[in-house]
Amino acid sequence: MTVLQAPKPSLVDPFGRRVTYLRLSVTDRCNLRCVYCMAEDMTFLPRAQVLTLEEMEQIAAAFVALGVNKIRLTGGEPLVRNNVLHLATRLSALAGLDELVMTTNGVLLETHADALAAAGVSRLNISIDSLRPDRFASLTRFGELPQVLKGIDAARRAGFRAVKLNCVVMKGFNDDETGDLVQFAVDNGLDIAFIEEMPLGAVTSHDRVQTLVSNVQVRQQLAQRFRLLASDDSTGGPARYWRVEDTATRVGFISPHSNNFCGDCNRVRLTAEGRLLLCLGNDHAADLRQVVRSHPGDSRRLQAAIVEAIRIKPERHYFDPSEQRIVRFMNATGG
Ligand code: SAM
Ligand code: SF4
Repeated sequence: MTVLQAPKPSLVDPFGRRVTYLRLSVTDRCNLRCVYCMAEDMTFLPRAQVLTLEEMEQIAAAFVALGVNKIRLTGGEPLVRNNVLHLATRLSALAGLDELVMTTNGVLLETHADALAAAGVSRLNISIDSLRPDRFASLTRFGELPQVLKGIDAARRAGFRAVKLNCVVMKGFNDDETGDLVQFAVDNGLDIAFIEEMPLGAVTSHDRVQTLVSNVQVRQQLAQRFRLLASDDSTGGPARYWRVEDTATRVGFISPHSNNFCGDCNRVRLTAEGRLLLCLGNDHAADLRQVVRSHPGDSRRLQAAIVEAIRIKPERHYFDPSEQRIVRFMNATGG
């Protein structure tokens, strides 16, 4: 006798894309103020508006029950959220979740890397936009490069399955350092991804039209110093990868401007206040905090709200660096 198995649940949007990846912003706060991400003076969410870790866990579990198999902890800076390690331990134990990963600025990694690996975080993305201490300090407004370098070292030793560096390239700020950053990645056996700056939130420190560098240019610049081999590798995110010949390093390009990746978007984001953002470059959202707070413990209702929200996932983003269409900053979005 054949036993019919119930089909695995899945979240499919109106354009036929399966949502399998949740980026969970555990806080909008941060111990840095990167110029492309935040304004100098920021107002952060009052604590009462931020989801508790238990609420985050409930929502994450509902996503996993609906077929999501990868969760990224992000922020703000995820490591400044109290007890984030406890949340990581709980999430990594969810049946059906294949990967729990994190994006961090690395400032607190020296002390947290081992515990993160032990909590079940399998891969890390670490942001680093310059290898020159003075530049690093001005790009992050006050960050100390040696602290992040120690964090990267600790991450390498902690036994993560992979550690990748992330770099936002800006003309006149760090666009002459892409080769040195790739060499640093090669020397340390890491991957690296270059990101085109997105116009999220109003910044006064620079003009995004003037500072935008296309990843096409970055790749051409790198090709003068390294032999890059095209690759089909994917880590389930928006990066397109190239291999640096004769090394273990892959160079990824995240190109929201020059190579729109919306066609195979598999992601949604949950902000620290429980707004489910259906697209990075649009404001379509659903309030999941209201659902968990009005119906505590009601996972069916939560799942129904998520299924309903996926119906309004937009087809694509339209970024124009001369326009300030999206007022939310990246720290409030969850990168
Ligand atoms: N604080 C952590 C960090 O910096 O890695 C995680 C949160 S941060 C918002 C996630 C990623 O978004 C980082 O790699 C950061 O460089 C990137 N990012 C921030 N603002 C951006 C922007 N306006 N355009 C493109 N990438 C941005
Ligand atoms: Fe903080 Fe990350 Fe934004 Fe930099 S990019 S200000 S580290 S949240």
